[in-house]
Amino acid sequence: MITIRNLSKHFGELVVLKDVNADIQKGEVISIIGPSGTGKSTFLRCLNLLEAPTGGSIYIDGVSLLDKKTNVPKIRQKMGMVFQSFNLYSHLTILENLTIGPVKLLGKKKTETNTKAFEYLKLVGLAEKAYNFPDELSGGQKQRVAIARCLVMEPEVMLFDEPTSALDPTMVSEVLAVIRRLVREGMTMIIVTHEMEFARNISSRVFYMDEGIIYEDGTPEQIFESPQREKTRAFIHRIRSLEFRITGRDYDLYALQAEMEMFCEKHVIAKDVSANVQLLAEEVILLQTDYSDITIALSYSEKEGDVELVCESAGTPVNPLTPGAMEDEIGILLIKDRCKSVEYNYENGKNNLRLKVKVK
Ligand code: ADP
Ligand code: MG
Repeated sequence: MITIRNLSKHFGELVVLKDVNADIQKGEVISIIGPSGTGKSTFLRCLNLLEAPTGGSIYIDGVSLLDKKTNVPKIRQKMGMVFQSFNLYSHLTILENLTIGPVKLLGKKKTETNTKAFEYLKLVGLAEKAYNFPDELSGGQKQRVAIARCLVMEPEVMLFDEPTSALDPTMVSEVLAVIRRLVREGMTMIIVTHEMEFARNISSRVFYMDEGIIYEDGTPEQIFESPQREKTRAFIHRIRSLEFRITGRDYDLYALQAEMEMFCEKHVIAKDVSANVQLLAEEVILLQTDYSDITIALSYSEKEGDVELVCESAGTPVNPLTPGAMEDEIGILLIKDRCKSVEYNYENGKNNLRLKVKVK
């Protein structure tokens, strides 16, 4: 359905897209992930010609997008785009926001369009808000209206650019639920997202973008469980872990524990394990002799079900596992009791204490 060949986009000297190639079939749901600034938005914007590509070609149903003879508005109509910010007209009602496109751009009849608009408002759960104005809606509701506004144009492909990243955490799930619904209906979609669990559950394929190309592409299992290339691995590892820096004795223990609790909730780690992790972090920090540069990292491996806590600290080597190294042995006994394994090494001027937390 969509074929992309050697697509490039430069902004002056800046090469954002170097050489993007992809084939997307009808009904596929593609999630695009990657560090910020790697051209994910630019890629979507090139796809529906909000940005003019520097080079390469894009075909939709065999029709070249970049051919001068191509009817651009018609092609663009095949691709609905939902942005981070909802871009609704504030002086129009929700219903009017939906009908203005089909009536003004497609020349559709008003009554027919109204019926259709209600259908799509129902689909996103907002039929009762038809006569309200955008400012009377929450962020999550506005984004659902934005999705309905796209659908009423009856696109063949929907492009989403981080549709939930401007929302309060409480409103993310209602928007994701609507997108899930579209997946079930077989809509072809390309979604740039930071919601990794979501990407993993709904996508048929995941594109990891970096270095101006689709650096790695595969099924969600391949990309999230066993990424093959170095940068993908590093990225997946980074998003899976929590890092907390400490630069002095007056560090904020409560902030650290709250972040750890949230991390555990996000990864559906049991409450008692979460409590243990927080306690272990506090104990591990108490073992340190130099507080000037400590990094606490918490990570979770879904495959093994392991929760790992790593404490890296600058300073002279102090191995707390050596008998007699600690004045107070209680802390280290407690740590050993609650961990499957505890390892220590000293590398590149840093103490490394690595704990595998008992999960059962
Ligand atoms: P992502 O969505 O992956 O975070 P973007 O596509 O937004 O990345 O941006 C990629 C790079 O292109 C960034 O360095 C950004 O500053 C730059 N960029 C994006 N749009 C423009 C523009 N219109 N003019 C100049 N530079 C731009
Ligand atoms: Mg972006």
